[in-house]
Formats: sequence, structure tokens, C-alpha cells
Amino acid sequence: MTEEQNQTITDTPHYLAKALMANGIRDMYGVVGIPVTDFARIAQGMGMRYIGMRHEADAVNAAAAEGFLNARPAVALTVSAPGFLNGLPALLEATVNGFPVIMIGGSSTRHIVDLNEGEYEGLDQMGYAKPFCKASLRIDRIEDIPLAVARAVHIASCGRPGAVYLDLPDDTVAQMLSKDAAKANLWTPADPQPSMPPSRASVDAAMALLRQAKHPLMVIGKGAAIARAEKEIREFIGKTDIPFQPMSMAKGVVPDDDPHSTASCRSLALGNADVVLLVGARLNWMLSFGQGKPWNSQVRFIQIDIDPEEIDNARKIDVPMVGDIRSAMMMLNGALEERPFTASEEWLGLIRKAGAANKAKFAAKERSEQVPMSHFNALGAIAKVYDRHHEDLILANEGANSLDDCRNIIAMREPRRRLDCGTWGVMGCGTGYAIGAAVATGRKVLYIGGDSAFGFDGMEVETACRYRLPITFVVLNNGGIYRGDFENLGTDGDPSPLTLTYEAHYETMIEAFGGEGYYATTPEETEAMVERAVMSGRPSFVHVQLAKYAGRESGNIGSLNPKPVVGALAASEVTAHDYAQGARM
Ligand code: ADP
Ligand code: MG
Repeated sequence: MTEEQNQTITDTPHYLAKALMANGIRDMYGVVGIPVTDFARIAQGMGMRYIGMRHEADAVNAAAAEGFLNARPAVALTVSAPGFLNGLPALLEATVNGFPVIMIGGSSTRHIVDLNEGEYEGLDQMGYAKPFCKASLRIDRIEDIPLAVARAVHIASCGRPGAVYLDLPDDTVAQMLSKDAAKANLWTPADPQPSMPPSRASVDAAMALLRQAKHPLMVIGKGAAIARAEKEIREFIGKTDIPFQPMSMAKGVVPDDDPHSTASCRSLALGNADVVLLVGARLNWMLSFGQGKPWNSQVRFIQIDIDPEEIDNARKIDVPMVGDIRSAMMMLNGALEERPFTASEEWLGLIRKAGAANKAKFAAKERSEQVPMSHFNALGAIAKVYDRHHEDLILANEGANSLDDCRNIIAMREPRRRLDCGTWGVMGCGTGYAIGAAVATGRKVLYIGGDSAFGFDGMEVETACRYRLPITFVVLNNGGIYRGDFENLGTDGDPSPLTLTYEAHYETMIEAFGGEGYYATTPEETEAMVERAVMSGRPSFVHVQLAKYAGRESGNIGSLNPKPVVGALAASEVTAHDYAQGARM
């Protein structure tokens, strides 16, 4: 462009960055290349924060974490075909989790792709993205940029939030528009996250059912965290004394140390509850679809969800309350003003007793000095650090046992401080989440993962170092998937399918990029080193060495493995310990 044109004409990269920023989108995570490199550089020059990641899935996960934490989508940027495809699993994961995010994928020249002429990285990306997100849209004309961004923001944010894909062909990247037209065209949606109160009748029906309950229970899911409804939910619990079971990412909506929490007596709570108020929690595999073990066979459900299609997904819902959680809880709180309702002392007493007994049982394991360490005493040591710094710290957690045991051992007191494997139970999301959390909030982040989970997205320690993010990576190494002592059932001498390097020094990975590494073998060292790493506010890494035999198959969900043939023992259930005890097949 000549100097004169520069004064009067804008182009797609500038206009797109401007439209994103006009919508309050601040951060973009990506991996650049053809045809989006200039766009990233120009956006950065115009004041967007750009975080260059090492894999597109991590970029989408980082942006999705920001969406969850800040209730506003961030952008993930990919190059064409392979880069774009790398982002898709995380795009679907964000949609399944209900995290708002916008993925922008540069793509190759439309007319050549459409005739399948053999274009460089030619792929119908808009078509491929469709089943992976709430909406897949393409920007064919520069003048449509404000509309495209507004639609992306709106769709990602409204109802159950999720992912939107925006396709950006190179022919669009090259387009220009007069600055006057660009200015006149720019607009943003008035209310992308409208409140949607449930019907009055559903509120009355819910209160009527709750009043019949002998053992009412509230199950708080991550929808409540997404809805930012902590104030209203805490008020409801304060008024009713209703016990609550927090789902993993809902921990902290009400503090874990609240006496109404049933986290440490889940089976008793779910097994005895006769009326359950689901608040932003789906009756999916995590809640055994609301039937059979661990549920009481007579249980009846009230479900608050913004998505009407969620109701009756796996069983009958007696009282659907379709609407947003904040409005719904406000209406329930209002109904309580008119006519109070409280849970019985008998029910709360049962819960307190069972909770205290279980806590005492686990406390001994968490405080044990045993070496080599188990997940329990290693996490017990880390929990002491988290407890001291919970006000400043966000937790990103992935793994099998490293996930399940961490969820139980590290108490959350504030909402939206825990990011984990989510609805699917995926691995390879944690370091992206950690980076998104650090960038989105400016807080310190503690990543805790197993050696297997960390391996999927471990290269992002370089990103953390490059941007000097205050992230402490903690890897609990037991030398394998689930645990490190599985044996090869054959004779070729290779490691077993579950084996990883037990003798590793994962902390040296961060040292390669200028971060601080620590290697801990005892609970005392673990506590001291994690404390030092967190306090440093620098990218740091603590390798925590566990016993090879620490851990259970699939953490707490071994029951999901296909059952072995009657009389035989599944190979996956055979450990070195079983061998030692003569449990050979
Ligand atoms: P968890 O895994 O914690 O049990 P889920 O992800 O299964 O939680 O369920 C969250 C539910 O919350 C989803 O069905 C989603 O539609 C719903 N949800 C998300 N945001 C809101 C909101 N603002 N109001 C009401 N429901 C919401
Ligand atoms: Mg492991």
C-alpha cells in the first residue's frame, strides 16, 4: 500500500483484529504460519496479547480456559489443514465442557479447494469443523468481518457456551476496504449472554418437591461456575441448610470446607438423597446417569439447566427448570422468603458423621512419611502449600490417580480456580489450561499432572518460560500410565504398553528453557520445593518421584474397563504386585 492508501484503506488483518478487540476479546493463542502470520503480528501490534503456543490443541485449550475463567471467549489461531485439524479435538472438548472459545483457522484459496485441484494444504475446513463446535462460519468478504465476529461471540457465549469456528481463507486475508466503510460497518452484539429466567411454575414445582424431601441434596456442577452463580447458591444453602455435592470443576462455588459439603461422604449422600436439585450438572457418566448405584432407587430430580435438550437425557427429570442458574437461584431464594424450608438436623447429622469418619481415614494416608511416596502423601504435602496460597493460585490438574486424588485432597475455596480433565476425562489439556489461566487472570498457577498426562502437552513448558508466566508444573512420576509396574505379558523384552520412564528427570525439561527445576523424593522435600517454586513467581517445575506401584488402574474409574471373560483376570488388572502374590493368569 502507498502512504496515501494507508490513510484511507484497511485490510482484513487490521479489520479482524479491530473487530475482535471491539468485542472485548483481549487474548489470542496460536501457532502461526501460512496464511495467518501477518494477522497475528498485526493484531499484536494493535494491542491484542498474542501467546505463541507449541501445538494447536494447547492453543485452543488455553483460549477455552480463558473463556471459562473470564466468561468471554478468547481466540485460538491456526494455520490451514494440519494445524487446523490439530485444533479440532480441543474445539470439541471446549464445546462438550461448555467453555466459550473462537477458533480462527487460516485456509487455502477457496475456488481451488472447492474444485479439489490440489491446493497447498487444501481442505474444506468449514465443513470439517461443523461437528466439532456450536457453529462453523466462513468469512468470504472483508465487509462481513464485524458480522462474523459478532455471530461468533454471540453463539460461543449464549445458552450453553461452547466453541465457534471461523474460517479465514487466504483470498479474504488479501482483501481491502475503505476505512470509512469499515468504521460504518463495525458493530457488537448488545447482549451475547442474555439472562433466561425459568418459568414461575417450574420454581413453584421445585419448591413443592423439595418440601416433600426427607433427604434433599444439591449437586453443583461446573455450569454453576460458568454461570458465576456462587453468591446466589451460597445464599440458598445458607437459608435451607441443604447439603451439596460439588462436581469437580464446581469445587469452590461453595468452599470445600463448608459444613454442608458431602464431598467426603459422596456415597452416603447420593445413596440416601430422595430429592436432588441438579444445578448445572449433567446426569452423565460422572453421575451414573442418575440411576443404579450409588443412587437411591426412589430418588427424584429437579434439574436447572440452560439447555432444554439436556432434560431427560438419561432418565426422567421430575421438575425441569430450564433457564440460567443465577436467575433460577434468585427465584428459589425469593420463594424461600415467602415460605422457608430447611433440611432436617437428622440428615445433616448423618452427613457430618460420615464425612468426619472418611476424612480421618484419609488424613493418615495424606500425612504419612512413607517413601517412596504414594499419590496420597505427595498430594498431602502439596495441599499444605495450596492451602497457604489459595487466594492467589489457580489449579490445573490432569492424569488418572493424579486427577482423582488431587480432587479429593486439595480443597478449593474460591470458584473457578480448578481446571481439569472435564466432561470427557481427557489427557493433554492441562498445560494449555495452565497457560490460559495464567494469561487470563494474571494469577499464579499450579499445574499438577501425572507423568503420562503431562507427556501429551509437556512442550508448553517452553511457552511458559518464553512468556515468563508464573506457573509451577508438578509432575507426579510413577513411571507409567496408571502405574509403572505393569509387565510385558509376552517374551520380546519390550516395556509393557503402560510403561514410561520411571528414572526420568522431568524437571530438566524446564531447565532447558531457563526455568527452575526441582526433584523431590520425600513429602518434606515436596512441600518445601513446591513452596519455593510457587513463591518464586517464575516458570518452575517440581518432579515428584512416587513409587512405581503407586496408583490404581484408571484411577477411580477402573469400573469402566470392559469386564474380563468369566473366570479370567483382565491383563490390565495384573500388576507386578499381583504377580508377586501368585495371581498369574
Ligand atoms: P459437571 O461436569 O460439573 O457435572 P456438566 O458440564 O455436566 O457439569 O454440566 C454443566 C451444565 O450446566 C450443562 O448442561 C450446561 O448446559 C449448564 N449450564 C452452563 N451454563 C449455564 C447457565 N448459565 N445457566 C444454567 N445452566 C448452565
Ligand atoms: Mg503415571
